[in-house]
Amino acid sequence: MSEEDEWTPPEHLPWMDEALCAQTDPDMFFPEKGGSARSAKRVCASCDVREQCLDYALATGQTEGVWGGLTPRQRRATGQFIAQPNPRVDYAEVALWVERGFDDQEVAAKVGCAPETVMRWRHRHGIEPNSHGGRSSGRSWAA
Ligand code: SF4
Repeated sequence: MSEEDEWTPPEHLPWMDEALCAQTDPDMFFPEKGGSARSAKRVCASCDVREQCLDYALATGQTEGVWGGLTPRQRRATGQFIAQPNPRVDYAEVALWVERGFDDQEVAAKVGCAPETVMRWRHRHGIEPNSHGGRSSGRSWAA
């Protein structure tokens, strides 16, 4: 991947600090067409945040690169490309706290759900993260 088309995630979430790929070559996770994803998948297999990473990629419909150990084709095959609403979550309450300016972590704590649930709700409604919760950085998001 060249510097020009360097990929930037739309937001920074706490689990990204633990991303093992941040300590490796990010290009490995975006192989050229026909290239192998094997090396990236090997890194993902040892990553502590693999589950959150895959959940994020499915929830936000990431169409490029290896996320959570799965290629785009494998993610599409899960049939969960865009996660459905969780019936146990009071989304009216999520909306209320998001509108009041709280970040995903704070909203999740108030509503009693995971921050990723709040994130998915925002994505479904096209709402950007509230500023103090949404730092942005490259995929090499850890130092
Ligand atoms: S792509 Fe996801 S699962 Fe793989 S190393 Fe990076 S953060 Fe971990």
